[in-house]
Amino acid sequence: MNNTTKTVAALRESFAAIEPTTANAGRIMKAARATLLDCGHSGPSSLGGVNASSKIAKGEKLNLHTFIMYLAPSDMAGAVNTCPQASEGCRAACLFNSGRAAFDDKINAARIARTLIYAASRPHFSAVLFSEIAKAQNKARSAGIFFSVRLNGTSDISPRAFKVNGVDVLAAFAEVPFYDYTKVWTRSRLTWPANYSLTYSWTDGRKWSDAVEVMNNGGALAVPFADLNAAGRIKVARSASLPTSYGEVDAAGRLLWSFPVFDGDTTDARYLDREQGAPAAGGYIVGLRAKRSTVEAERVALASGFFVPV
Ligand code: SF4
Repeated sequence: MNNTTKTVAALRESFAAIEPTTANAGRIMKAARATLLDCGHSGPSSLGGVNASSKIAKGEKLNLHTFIMYLAPSDMAGAVNTCPQASEGCRAACLFNSGRAAFDDKINAARIARTLIYAASRPHFSAVLFSEIAKAQNKARSAGIFFSVRLNGTSDISPRAFKVNGVDVLAAFAEVPFYDYTKVWTRSRLTWPANYSLTYSWTDGRKWSDAVEVMNNGGALAVPFADLNAAGRIKVARSASLPTSYGEVDAAGRLLWSFPVFDGDTTDARYLDREQGAPAAGGYIVGLRAKRSTVEAERVALASGFFVPV
């Protein structure tokens, strides 16, 4: 049995005598921390946080607090796949390897530890998550601040996976706007409650014709545009530009399709895009400036087609 399998088994054992209810959230997290530390992992004090990245914190200019959860993406925790449709390019470019996490091992260790709790018991994980969301929501409410939730900071899990007493997180917090980016485009065919907004993410290995279908159905498609410097490296975000529209032309130069590009870096609150200048109706592209990473990760993300050159 490797360390990850042992840790997941030990976490399950430590939860065995604790009912997965929000009232027990403190006990669950205490047991999880003790077990994780015992097994040589990091012992995170929470599953999520409010405005826990510089991009999310941009919501403050909209008087908005956002609770966000960062797990280990894809299969990086070794116990569960949190991104069912991750590609070679997106894994290479993933936030896991950029931003603060790229130079702070503790951040990734905490993401792995949280993911091991999720792998050990979704009901116990959900009980803690519900409790943390409720606390953050109350805090925002008493301060007169709008509140939203993004469950997948660095993962792509359906919100329906998080349930307490059979009620999923979207129904439990029906008055709270939730939003996510997803590479699971088939989620566009499911019926979601009004408080859930999804932005579909471009990724390598997909066909533009499928992306066009998503946008023709009124969907928003997030595209990481790469503005390159003379050395072929991605420019730092503050000097990188985005196109105002993006489309395809055929061999004869005829435009096949084109959609307007909305700057998705101004804030992360995607569910407010149409109030913030995105087209009032119809599909559009959410332009994101590709993040600088390692030379190798940038090479893979560009060569795979995940990053789209400007
Ligand atoms: S699907 Fe998203 S979170 Fe998962 S590896 Fe790809 S970019 Fe990262």
